[in-house]
Amino acid sequence: MVRGLRKRFRVVGLAAGRNVTLLEEQAREFQPRLISFEGNERPSRSVINVRGAAWSSLQEMAVHPDVDVVVVATAGKAGLAPTLAALAAGKVVALANKEALIMAGKIVAATAERGRGEIRPIDSEHSAIWQCLRGEKKTAISRLILTASGGAFRDKGPEELRLVTPEQALRHPTWQMGRKITVDSATLLNKGLEAMEARWLFDVPLDRIEIVMHRESVIHSFVEFVDGSLKAQLGLPDMRLPIQYALCYPERLPLPSLPRLDLKQTRALHFEKLDLQRYPCLGLALEAGHRGGTYPAVLAAADEVAVEHFLAGHIRFTDIPPVIEETLDGHDGISDPDLDGIQAADAWARARAEDLVRAKA
Ligand code: MG
Repeated sequence: MVRGLRKRFRVVGLAAGRNVTLLEEQAREFQPRLISFEGNERPSRSVINVRGAAWSSLQEMAVHPDVDVVVVATAGKAGLAPTLAALAAGKVVALANKEALIMAGKIVAATAERGRGEIRPIDSEHSAIWQCLRGEKKTAISRLILTASGGAFRDKGPEELRLVTPEQALRHPTWQMGRKITVDSATLLNKGLEAMEARWLFDVPLDRIEIVMHRESVIHSFVEFVDGSLKAQLGLPDMRLPIQYALCYPERLPLPSLPRLDLKQTRALHFEKLDLQRYPCLGLALEAGHRGGTYPAVLAAADEVAVEHFLAGHIRFTDIPPVIEETLDGHDGISDPDLDGIQAADAWARARAEDLVRAKA
């Protein structure tokens, strides 16, 4: 994205997780001062020596004095610490990571307020809501309406679902995404996580957040206002738009590489009520969200374990919801946890879910 915005942005730090080859390539192109990576694989000397780039932890990178905007696109709970550090240091955080708000939404929101940091959503649904809310007062919001594509198995019957393979689950009808999130889209757990994120991003209670099935993924979400007016944001499903919007806000810049939505070709848009029977993971996620405290962290951890084992072929697709449900059932929740309490709940949930997976495998 920054490649097309060279006049506005200089890359101070680059983090790559385990993809050291891409890090090396991008470090040569953008010449960051700091780089970060993990894993056992020792990177080649050339990475460490890319024009003087020094290794740094994600937290150090997030609070570096030259940094204005931190893009947190790290998946999993590794995104939480750098998000908190950046917000406490008053940075703008363009947030694609889900776990930070799921595990510790209350703490993240409070940290942003205290540190005068700012969160800008990158997820398509939240970007849509954020765009709809521009110029509106919070008191004018009546409901947030998240759209859901229904995922890879929206037309499969319960018997067929038992036999679906990881390969099938990874074929999302409209979006190209990482493996874990694509499976979460098929179970619709993802949409429950997004409802929880919306709750913290826009300070709207969960019972005023609705989810509607919309197969075409053209409307990325709606806001309903107190006078009954509905605003929606539309576009082709392409993440470049929400990413650029978050980076450049409050400006809206041209994005010439993006194909345009041709309404004459789109013709009809469809909306359906979501059947919670069909999507037990969504029901579990919403319930965990309503219970609050450590329950959302436990839900996310159990899901991560279950999805990993499904993708590895150890359990069936239909085993994912019971692993999550039984983990939640066994959890003794804390209502207003601190970070240690959240980490402890996360660790407990992972161990418990592993036990449940072993019993089912
Ligand atoms: Mg999304």
